[in-house]
Amino acid sequence: MTSLRDRYLQEIGIPVWRARGAPAVSAPVPPEPAPEAAAPAVLVGAPQGADVWSELQSKVRACTLCGLHRGRTQTVFGVGRRDAQLFVIGEAPGADEDRQGEPFVGRAGQLLNAMLRSIGLPRAEVYIANILKCRPPNNRDPEPSEAASCTPYLSRQIELVQPRVLLAVGRIAAQWLLQTDAPIGRIRGRVVSYGPRNTPLVVTYHPAYLLRSPLEKAKAWTDLCMVKELLSRSS
Ligand code: URA
Repeated sequence: MTSLRDRYLQEIGIPVWRARGAPAVSAPVPPEPAPEAAAPAVLVGAPQGADVWSELQSKVRACTLCGLHRGRTQTVFGVGRRDAQLFVIGEAPGADEDRQGEPFVGRAGQLLNAMLRSIGLPRAEVYIANILKCRPPNNRDPEPSEAASCTPYLSRQIELVQPRVLLAVGRIAAQWLLQTDAPIGRIRGRVVSYGPRNTPLVVTYHPAYLLRSPLEKAKAWTDLCMVKELLSRSS
């Protein structure tokens, strides 16, 4: 019999090996994701909250603080529950995101969704945003000056959501947030605290990297389990 956990691991692309005769379920099974709420994840009954969000979104939409505004189709603000427990931080929009105005909608986004599902969190349950709100040309790395101009928007989003846990995906996001040049292999796999609220931050590999290097998926899975553990601890 295939456990839910095994099914999720297979979906991410982590082969599940089991010794002959071993029990089918060898580790805690993540809970079946709750059915998605029909109502949109807005701050019901908190009009000032909604105003704060729409004001921030308008500022981002009109932003010309760095040169990237010249090449964008649209800004990519962020998506998800405004009261999410988990806030996922990526690097910058790519071509698909620039076209659709939503983070992580391409192939890497599909894998990110599967990674989140593997710990019982459907995409709609978390908040997802990038360091940069505009696509860098040819998907080049963000310039430090671009990241510096854009980070206040992300910081404000984090401040408004007040997540219990932050998950930085990829070297660029992790190095920028932690202000380090250390390779991602050295900063992933542990919990650090981030920002004025000392929010626990976990770093993992970028799903685009995992698509190219599937052998690293097992390490990403341990990072995700850490996120799950932190969320269950603080609830
Ligand atoms: N990669 C990112 O870091 N963010 C996106 O939104 C898409 C791909």
